[in-house]
Amino acid sequence: MQATATHGSAMATMDVRNLVNGRFTERQGAALDVIDPAAQVRVGSCPDSTAREVAEAVDAAHRASTAWARTPVADRAAALRRLADRIEADLDLFARTEAIDTGKPIALARTVDMPRAISNFRFFADLAEEAGGPLAPHALHGAGFTSAIARRPLGVAACIAPWNLPLYLLTWKLAPALAAGCTVVGKPSEVTPLTAHLLAERALDCGFPAGALNIVHGRGPVAGQALVTDPRVACITFTGGTATGEAIARAAAPRFVRMALELGGKNAAIVLADACTPDRIGATADGLMRALFSNQGQVCHCAERVLVERSGMDALVEALSSRIAALRIGDPLDESTQFGSLISASHRGKVESAIAAARAEGAQVICGGTRPDAASLPERVRAGAFLRPTLMTGLPAGCRTDQEEIFGPVATIAPFDTDNEAIARANSTRFGLSATVWSCDCTRAARIADALVCGTVWINGWMARDLRAPIGGVRASGLGREGGSEALHFFAEPHVVVTPDAG
Ligand code: NAD
Repeated sequence: MQATATHGSAMATMDVRNLVNGRFTERQGAALDVIDPAAQVRVGSCPDSTAREVAEAVDAAHRASTAWARTPVADRAAALRRLADRIEADLDLFARTEAIDTGKPIALARTVDMPRAISNFRFFADLAEEAGGPLAPHALHGAGFTSAIARRPLGVAACIAPWNLPLYLLTWKLAPALAAGCTVVGKPSEVTPLTAHLLAERALDCGFPAGALNIVHGRGPVAGQALVTDPRVACITFTGGTATGEAIARAAAPRFVRMALELGGKNAAIVLADACTPDRIGATADGLMRALFSNQGQVCHCAERVLVERSGMDALVEALSSRIAALRIGDPLDESTQFGSLISASHRGKVESAIAAARAEGAQVICGGTRPDAASLPERVRAGAFLRPTLMTGLPAGCRTDQEEIFGPVATIAPFDTDNEAIARANSTRFGLSATVWSCDCTRAARIADALVCGTVWINGWMARDLRAPIGGVRASGLGREGGSEALHFFAEPHVVVTPDAG
């Protein structure tokens, strides 16, 4: 593990406000502190919105919904493109703010989070406008009558996002909702509200009429709960933890409101022996490092269970260990940092408890498992919520550690002897979000991928994303799909008029 240099001062504190009906509102309730987890300093405040403040935002969205639905799709798309341009113009500010708010390396925010937020808006602007695309009216002819199919925007969309990829995932919801003609009440995570506020500031002069895009901040059980139970909300798209998804589903079920839930995972990486030969091990280990530890392991698609064909185990353990030791852990604001802080000291505590529980189940820690030496870190971030990337082995199939999502830089590695054993173990949790398979035997890898019960399988890679492809989970990993036409269809209700053919 190498420590990177100290970075200079971080930023002025930010006073986050709700965006309601085209203007920033005065706080009605208390404020929540926003903490830079790497420096453990307060960097801003955000409204701890009350149910009344949420109701005002829903009211604004509801009043704006008819006009926004009737706004020509070309005009809606133009507003989305203007907003994308505004993020791009201020990309450095957005990336730096996201790094401060989350503890993620600024290089990651600049090269992944922000470019993706920009392309979310541009992609859905293009897709909504496409002639013959997912929103285009069309007709089915046959048997003496014609069925004319139109897709009507649902109305007010509640878009609730988590803290791990704050702007990336919030815009992944806002963009298709607005493109499809829904008005929106967005609720970013109270842990990471800063880039949503920068977005709201820039949205003011992009051509969205008052009320089309509203953003309310606050805690889940108060502001989030008020949003998902408001009778004027027509659909809910939520990304976050499985327990929260269940609470939202229960709260919204009596209204039969349309829902998409993107939840947790316990993703497996299946590594075949041919990916561990001397000529292949470098590429395999490099790819796996991204899959295991990107964003400090706080990506829902990160792998937490490595299953490796027995003859490749030693080579893979050695290759991963040397890469973990070389990873540059340091100040998220340093461009050369590869591995930053966890989202908070309390989340680090939960991850450390999971490591302790794994040890109690018999795990041997191969590397990591502890905090880095404070002295190895730059002074600005010595009190930060850092935890070394951790690899453990020696756990039996079915152990608790391999059943529950940790959502941190912690993975287990275990050998397997047959493909069926690997498949059974990969499928043996209640989750089903994604998986990876590593092999140069395309047929064998494809056969394994086909047998995995989850939404996405990446072969010899991780997180390669064509935004037209549906993404989401099965079982406790979620309900519904985001991406491409699935997302635009989610926000629109098909309406069919059947007419007899003339003659
Ligand atoms: P979380 O469930 O605690 O919070 C997510 C959002 O829901 C926040 O905005 C929060 O304020 C809100 N919320 C909390 N309780 C609510 C309630 N009762 N009603 C309405 N809203 C409520 O999740 P988190 O800790 O922010 O994020 C980490 C989790 O998100 C992990 O489990 C991770 O796997 C999951 N995640 C999933 C995906 C995916 O695409 N499947 C992507 C990223 C993160």
